[in-house]
Amino acid sequence: MKNVAVIGGGIMGRGIAYSSALAGFQVHLQDINSDALNTAKEYIEKELKKSVERGFLQPGEDVASANRISYTTSIEEAAAQADLVIEAVLERMDIKVEVFKKLDAICAEHTVLATNTSTMSPTEIGAQTSRPDKCIAMHFFNPVHKMKLVEIVRGLDTSDETYAIAKHAAETMRKEVVEVNEFPGFVTSRMNCLIGNEAMNMLMEGVASAEDIDKAMKLGLNHPMGPLELADLVGLDTRLRNMEYLYQTLGEKYRPCPLLIKYVKAGRLGKKSGNGFYKYE
Ligand code: NAD
Repeated sequence: MKNVAVIGGGIMGRGIAYSSALAGFQVHLQDINSDALNTAKEYIEKELKKSVERGFLQPGEDVASANRISYTTSIEEAAAQADLVIEAVLERMDIKVEVFKKLDAICAEHTVLATNTSTMSPTEIGAQTSRPDKCIAMHFFNPVHKMKLVEIVRGLDTSDETYAIAKHAAETMRKEVVEVNEFPGFVTSRMNCLIGNEAMNMLMEGVASAEDIDKAMKLGLNHPMGPLELADLVGLDTRLRNMEYLYQTLGEKYRPCPLLIKYVKAGRLGKKSGNGFYKYE
């Protein structure tokens, strides 16, 4: 496997492109929005440089990795030569299905199509293509270059060969893998969304301040980040889409907190918009 295409250059897509390039793959990063691509390029180059300065990478690895990434708004250009495509567009089934149908038409027969969905069904996405056996979910974590895990989720028709290719790609990116059979929210999002939603409900009910809820979870329960800080990092719009999907598929327990809905309506999307449960410079 040599060529990886990443579709969607937002928070996750840029991180997956970074880790893929560092692993030695040739990477095409595609987004429909050229501003997103410019931001992604700036982010990747800054983070690579920081990693050299902090001693995580050898001098020169930053430039070599950056040179392995090309940026394009054309999905045809990005995917035509790809051995593996990792989709990281918005968490909306209609958009993911549209992207997968296009990829199915563009890509070579051997190409594996992976989705980075946090919650949704790779079976449903793969069923819209002529190659459900080559479709799978590779769920990376944010920030991708620092987080160790990839949850690999098999759809109903995913072949063993496709699973092996996805695992090999993740391990080449120096990630640990867990294998999950498809169920909404997999292991991590199902658990994490519930914790985050409960924290938001507590904040709405006036149980404690955002700072104290997060501090309690970090110092009392040994979580590395508080659930509200983490939701801000994920993006509150993305978190709301995750909750809505889990609510539809798993029921009442996952009803999105009204405070989360209100924040998204107000344009408070967390770190990416400069304002969420906390304010950011
Ligand atoms: P984001 O909003 O930061 O980025 C999404 C990008 O997709 C945008 O740049 C947008 O322009 C682009 N896009 C939209 N439609 C497109 C299309 N048709 N073709 C190409 N690009 C398109 O979102 P994100 O946080 O990077 O999330 C992306 C996916 O990753 C979602 O499925 C999300 O659930 C999942 N995910 C997110 C996190 C997180 O912490 N943010 C963690 C794990 C998984």
